[in-house]
Amino acid sequence: MKSKVVVDALKSAVGIRQRCLYCCDSRSADVDHFIPIGIDFTKAFKWANFIWVCPECNRRKGKRFPLDSTGAPLIIDPTRVDPWDHLILDTATGYLAPRFLDDDFDSMGEATLDVLSCINFESVTEGRKRVIRRYYEAIDRILESSDSSALFASLAREVREDEYGVSGWFALREGATEEKFLQLRKDSPHCWRKFVRLALQN
Ligand SMILES: [Zn+2]
Repeated sequence: MKSKVVVDALKSAVGIRQRCLYCCDSRSADVDHFIPIGIDFTKAFKWANFIWVCPECNRRKGKRFPLDSTGAPLIIDPTRVDPWDHLILDTATGYLAPRFLDDDFDSMGEATLDVLSCINFESVTEGRKRVIRRYYEAIDRILESSDSSALFASLAREVREDEYGVSGWFALREGATEEKFLQLRKDSPHCWRKFVRLALQN
């Protein structure tokens, strides 16, 4: 199922870079049925069940679609669920890992990384590290300048060009407690607030 109408509409939904919605690394080229047709045929032609992904993620997911004990999907649907509710980012290595909850790992985070293991392939973690480095550099420039608001444009550009969606980690999650971001909040609260607002829209 890959009619031109569906493909064009999904392409416009993922934006100009047309990145895969699962790994964010490769160009999306396939339409994935989030809930596989084999599990629920009624979802075969439902718009809300289409996700625009790269061939590698599509192949890995295939018919694998783990469910929890209530029958709810365990794979994160990035169009409906905030991945940071279930995953954490190691900013030194670019790796994503499942969150650790009270007494075990988050089951959605674990299942997603298990099925879509390419999310942590070296090319993807290197891409994340590259984006993280650019954030650090943009913040350094702001902190070193006497006119920080003029330099905010470069940080805003990093958020817009954040192909791996890590802005939310730094603005709204544990990444906000990293030294560099704490310093931005302390030394340039105006820039920090603008950064958080942009990340919320991303
Ligand atoms: Zn992918």
